[in-house]
Amino acid sequence: MRRKLVAGNWKMHGSRELTRTLVSGLAAEFGAAAPCDMAVCPPYPYLEEAARAAAGSPVAVGAQDVSDQDQGAYTGQVSAAMLAELGCRYAIVGHSERRTLNGESDELVAAKFRAAQGQGLVPILCVGESLEEREADETEAVVGRQLRAVLAAAGIGAFEQAVIAYEPIWAIGTGRTASPEQAQAVHAYIRGLLAAENAKIADFVKVLYGGSVKAANAADIFAMPDVDGGLVGGASLEVEGFAGICRAAG
Ligand code: PEP
Repeated sequence: MRRKLVAGNWKMHGSRELTRTLVSGLAAEFGAAAPCDMAVCPPYPYLEEAARAAAGSPVAVGAQDVSDQDQGAYTGQVSAAMLAELGCRYAIVGHSERRTLNGESDELVAAKFRAAQGQGLVPILCVGESLEEREADETEAVVGRQLRAVLAAAGIGAFEQAVIAYEPIWAIGTGRTASPEQAQAVHAYIRGLLAAENAKIADFVKVLYGGSVKAANAADIFAMPDVDGGLVGGASLEVEGFAGICRAAG
């Protein structure tokens, strides 16, 4: 039985004050008896504050991105070692906003995945199709291509220390959630693709759903057999909403 994970992606929102309030609010809400694994992924400048507020609580901290490089002349980038030093456990890689707005290729995402693991971080690998791709019946082809790029670079064994997030682009920040059945179909496809390489790892890896998850719809989506929690944007910016989603994962 896979324990569920709910991770909040704050994107470029928040402040030092909000970080403190949200993380300590979540920690206080659940104490040591968290219903699921929990993580917050604030913007880089607030990671240290988040780690401080989360210390001794079940809340883990993650970054929204990571450089594929270890160090050097890469202005604006942040390495996995730096994130680990700040107290991060997770790093999101391949979020659709980075793939589309920053032109990140499948190969670059795979390199970031490897860089994160190289420093002991757990990558949260985002995959997902656009609306046009779904309507052209290309969902599996797109998700399969994104996953295979990482399998080719890192190998199936790397998925023992990784999380996958299926995030259909048309559902991110739109209020239009995939139905539980739509999510389950793609999650099962992902697990099947990994199972073809190693059934044990495929059965073990957490596959989160992301795209307009809220407390009101989380329980139905999380009830699907291959959905192991959520990567949550908007609804993770407020303690009650985030806590409600975590309760639905319990
Ligand atoms: C996200 O940013 O990864 C996301 C899923 O956002 P939202 O929950 O707001 O759709």
